[in-house]
Amino acid sequence: MRRCCFMVALWLVPGAAASAATTADCIANVRLEDRGPERAPSLAVAFTCRTDGTVRFVADSAATTAHLRDARDGSDSPIEGGDGTWSVQARGGNATLRYSFDLSAYARDVDRVTAAVERGGAAMAILSTWLPEPRLPSGAVPVIDIRVAAPPELKAAIALPPVDGGWRLQGTTVRFAGYGVIGRFDREQMRLPAAGGGSATLDIARLDGALAVSRPELMDWIRKTALAHVEYWQGFTTSRVLLAVVPTPGRPRVVFGRVVPGGGVSVMLQVGSRATSPELWDDWILPHEFVHTGMPMITGRANWFMEGAATYVEPVIRARAGFKREAEVWREWIEQMPRGLSALRSGMSGGSPYWGGGLFMLLSDIEIRRATSGAKGLEHCLRGALRAGGDMTPAERWPLATFAQRCDTALGRPVMAMMLERHLGRSVEVDLPALWRDLGVTLNGARIETDDSAPLAWIRRILVMGGA
Ligand SMILES: [Zn+2]
Repeated sequence: MRRCCFMVALWLVPGAAASAATTADCIANVRLEDRGPERAPSLAVAFTCRTDGTVRFVADSAATTAHLRDARDGSDSPIEGGDGTWSVQARGGNATLRYSFDLSAYARDVDRVTAAVERGGAAMAILSTWLPEPRLPSGAVPVIDIRVAAPPELKAAIALPPVDGGWRLQGTTVRFAGYGVIGRFDREQMRLPAAGGGSATLDIARLDGALAVSRPELMDWIRKTALAHVEYWQGFTTSRVLLAVVPTPGRPRVVFGRVVPGGGVSVMLQVGSRATSPELWDDWILPHEFVHTGMPMITGRANWFMEGAATYVEPVIRARAGFKREAEVWREWIEQMPRGLSALRSGMSGGSPYWGGGLFMLLSDIEIRRATSGAKGLEHCLRGALRAGGDMTPAERWPLATFAQRCDTALGRPVMAMMLERHLGRSVEVDLPALWRDLGVTLNGARIETDDSAPLAWIRRILVMGGA
């Protein structure tokens, strides 16, 4: 069972400007109204767009429409929006929609981590659950600033780049923006070295709810997982990530994880209330989601490439950080890689995207080491593409050929282009027993045995732990 996912969506709207706008087209002023420690706050919103025409504010779902109350225009006249669309005629160059939103009732009704949940006095919610989409007369996708005013006991953490006094949504629609956490919650902002130089921020919002692990244990695990990621990529892979930790009653382990990249990267992580510290250190979901943040959205039917990289690289990152033994990585690969064979047989058009892509990455890593006499590996390919601008910001959507070209520039040899040529649209039968034999690695019962006289033993020795 996969316990993760990566929201694949065409969130980038054609023509949406990726360059920095100096002013926003719309501003959402949000006032948080306290409802005590057991309920998420209510939102009083004034959403204004600069225009001379009519703006249609469109709710994402019927559930949003049901909880959006008291809609009025800038002059306080009620506006009908029973069908989920509120049309506001501009006055004096501005169209304003005012409304109140019962975030607590919404989160209780919906109660899904992919949309919104309430824990104690806070709600974690995807932005579009409480913010309607403004449709401007020009048809342009607006740049939206969100500003939050709150009494001291309440706060908001939103997965968008900060701008003066708030956050900015740019280059994507409200519908594809990520998570925010609003209300009373525990927050820690970790500074990490960024892959592009300077520093990155991991903004951790831990919602209310009992956990078997203590706060220091939880934060230590998150910090060291982030640092293991930093070690592999030589820096954190995106300048800012919101990590929303959602305690989940009655469950062991990490229950589910999901990354949403629109507008700014957010990672949602459900941690079981019974999860022990060893279970957290043994889990793959958070490091897997972090790998996604280091790659761009790849266009076309390339989900296998993104999931394959995350599946293959995650245990390598954990082994290099000392969370997992090298032999355990080989055992996992020998046991799981057969699940990828059908994908390679289908020319990467079917089968498991996780293990099909994972097997492709294993073969690519071996080819890169072979072609560079061990000087470089898959990490150099991934780092090269990242440094060429390929992180998970929504402005970055690359065809696979572009990724391969930037990877190969970093390698100094066209290995990834050759691998795509070999596997895309061509059925390849991979002889895994022969591959393990050539690498000199055998699973004997539960034990991994190695043979240094095997022809590719020199590659096996550097594949997991790195080094020339
Ligand atoms: Zn994934």
